[in-house]
Amino acid sequence: MRSDIIVQKYGGSSVADPERIRNVARRVSAAYERRSPRIVVVVSAMGKTTDQLIALAHQITPHPDPRELDLLLSTGEIVSIALLAMALRDLGHEAISLTGYQAGIRTESRYGAARILDVDPMRIRRELERGRIVIVAGFQGFTEEFDVTTLGRGGSDTTAVALAAALEASACEIYTDVDGVFTADPRIVPEARQLQDISYEEMLELASQGAKVMAARAVELGELFDQPILVASSFSDRPGTLIHRGVSMEKGNKVRGIAHDVNVGKVTIVGVPDRPGIAAQVFGPLAEAGISVDVIVQNTGQHGKTDLSYSVAKGDLSKAEALTREVAKAIGAEAVTTAGDLGKVSIVGSGMQSAPGYAARMFEALYRAGINIEMITTSEIRITCIVAADRVPDAVRSLHAAFELETRDNP
Ligand code: ASP
Ligand code: MG
Repeated sequence: MRSDIIVQKYGGSSVADPERIRNVARRVSAAYERRSPRIVVVVSAMGKTTDQLIALAHQITPHPDPRELDLLLSTGEIVSIALLAMALRDLGHEAISLTGYQAGIRTESRYGAARILDVDPMRIRRELERGRIVIVAGFQGFTEEFDVTTLGRGGSDTTAVALAAALEASACEIYTDVDGVFTADPRIVPEARQLQDISYEEMLELASQGAKVMAARAVELGELFDQPILVASSFSDRPGTLIHRGVSMEKGNKVRGIAHDVNVGKVTIVGVPDRPGIAAQVFGPLAEAGISVDVIVQNTGQHGKTDLSYSVAKGDLSKAEALTREVAKAIGAEAVTTAGDLGKVSIVGSGMQSAPGYAARMFEALYRAGINIEMITTSEIRITCIVAADRVPDAVRSLHAAFELETRDNP
């Protein structure tokens, strides 16, 4: 049974300055008056605060200590919750701000990307019972040792979904600076269409392949607890996009959306001895260093040697290259080369798994646009091509047209 609690989350751009914070306070106040007196509000740091704090740390040292960096970054969200509580009090509401610790968000101790272990919402419940609007700092939690952790970039979404699940909220609403989830980034494809709803699986694929509208981890939690999530604008009253399980499949609509990412790097090991155990030796150290490898391609071996390529986020490229050079030396490979100017484009849709021919159509569209495919990877409901970063916008546009995503009943 769901409670009457509503969880709302407002992102950094929605609280970027005092006027916007007052705007959020007015929206929360309206929801309190008209919908439910039991509201929990999660907020991000104001505007670009998190980026600025990271830059500040790097002015002190090139390698900030992870524990201290997390403590520093957590201050951004604390500024926002205090200001929003003041704004709500100014409107005559009883409001109280809580840090991640006070809100009971316990995490593992992996700084910078800690996973939530559990939420003990006792304090939140007590404050709600007192009739207060509860404002919680997003993106932060605490370890067994009571150290402050952060949940990874965009982690306030994760806080909101975790709280909604723990409180069995009737609604979890993510307010941002766009109207919802679109078939592609409207800045690249002006004809992109907003989706009324989308499944957890599809949204998870889109988010993990570069769609910036929501943090992938948050969608994952939503799916795990079957907590529907509404993504909508904090600047308008338009309806938004609902992420949930029971998606009313639009007739014949197989491809739901296109995600893209322009920050992909590739490492190639040339002339790798073709024998058992090599892949384990190459990828073991990457895993240990916390680098997630995306696409792996191994060519057919010739004369006992083969080439092995893999892609990573561009930010991880130099670290990955260094680790792979060491391994290459140890196993007697011929050379290591890298490319940092790649991107990727993905088509996603759960209807694709039961219908053949989507890969062929995707490759044909890219070929017609004169775009070379460097690597390919698929899941049951996604096909991803790695291409040159500067061709990504063209690739997105040509795929959007090829799959007729601007019309509702696309084939
Ligand atoms: N302030 C954090 C970030 O910029 C968390 C968030 O915005 O959700 O990544
Ligand atoms: Mg942010």
